[in-house]
Amino acid sequence: MTVYSFPRGGIHFEDATVPAKDAGVIAFLPVLSVIPLAQQTGTKAQPLVSVGDYVKEGMLIGRARGPLSANVHATVPGQVVRMVSWEMAGGNSNDALVIRMEGSFEKLGKPEVRYPWEQMMPSEMQRLITEYGIVEMEGEGRPLADVFVALNAVQEPMSLVVRCVFDDPWLAADYVLCRERLKAVVEGSVIMSRAGPASRIVYAVSHKEQELGTLLLAESKSWDIPASLILVGSRYPQRNRRELELVLRAYEKKEGLELGRLFIQGPATLAAIHDAVTLRKPILDRYIAVGGSAIKTPQVMKVRIGTRIRDVFAECGGFVKEPRRIAIGSPLLGRTVLDLDEPVMKTSYAVMALLKGQIGGTVARSCIGCGECRIVCPVGLDPETLFKRIKGGRHAGTAGACHGCGCCEVVCPSRLPLSTTILQAGENNHA
Ligand code: SF4
Ligand code: SF4
Repeated sequence: MTVYSFPRGGIHFEDATVPAKDAGVIAFLPVLSVIPLAQQTGTKAQPLVSVGDYVKEGMLIGRARGPLSANVHATVPGQVVRMVSWEMAGGNSNDALVIRMEGSFEKLGKPEVRYPWEQMMPSEMQRLITEYGIVEMEGEGRPLADVFVALNAVQEPMSLVVRCVFDDPWLAADYVLCRERLKAVVEGSVIMSRAGPASRIVYAVSHKEQELGTLLLAESKSWDIPASLILVGSRYPQRNRRELELVLRAYEKKEGLELGRLFIQGPATLAAIHDAVTLRKPILDRYIAVGGSAIKTPQVMKVRIGTRIRDVFAECGGFVKEPRRIAIGSPLLGRTVLDLDEPVMKTSYAVMALLKGQIGGTVARSCIGCGECRIVCPVGLDPETLFKRIKGGRHAGTAGACHGCGCCEVVCPSRLPLSTTILQAGENNHA
């Protein structure tokens, strides 16, 4: 089968401190859960409970407040013992309800009740997905409610692209989810297509995981919607929207298909959509990859949303040595964590604790003109020149084309903050 890759730049990103992706471990249930009122970039939900109240597993405890806000649910039963705020890197703050677990679970360990959805109108599916607070479970966590507002305005043909592209080893949790919840990912894709609506599903799968792609496609045959498989390269940032669209357009041309507008979603989001519509269940847990050189036993875990990062690390045997940096996400695009009481959220796909050796030098030196940043830029920009122009107060020129993949910054031997500086300047240009 043809393997489609974006034409230039990119890096092969490997990391030996990522947990093995052969299986997921179900984590313990935390005594204290910290449930943030904003688990996406956007507006915090309005709390519906107060300190002292008792809540049930899956109960609505925060109501979305308009655009870029999502409903929030209790992930364990218990008593709300306090409300907390904490500061996140970048100066933003978040608020959360702290629940002390007690009482019985409504869903955990109980037989699952399936609700038929095949005859539902798209608006009813959209309502359920919104009601259960589903957000895109990566990146900025855009609420699906906002996605539907955008989709409902589209009149042209559309294809749903299921992005199973593992160009970053820190996506191990997505891989485990695909293997362990394959039927839910496929059925979630069909539900999303009907709710969207998309008239075709394309499974975009890393060529190294061809077997997974074949299984996804075989499972999709049980559903009455055209589906196909495209194998893509595993060079980072292949899963990035721009690079993925490039290969999908090449595939469309070669295969003589008409994909129309491309609507891209990851497997974790699609499994959550499945749970909302067929099981009437909010996102109670998620798979995360826990690793880094400071972690004793790296592993992929299924963790309740609201579990504190300190508890997740303890479950992995703690630290071999005091970490220098703790972050959520991949080292390429991750966000530094300032407080170990910060919880796992709907968008947290990896948590890592890194020793000094894995971070490298932190002091930026002068550019040595090696040109590495130009070689890896998939957009064809000249990060060295752009960086110097921005720092010199001159016009940032083509910075607006930067999509912040971070490749230039990763390879820069002088550790210059290329990506962050160029992306920021590009956004300012657009503002
Ligand atoms: S300039 Fe932007 S697009 Fe190019 S490598 Fe750097 S971060 Fe990626
Ligand atoms: S990679 Fe860094 S040191 Fe090399 S040319 Fe680019 S900015 Fe300069």
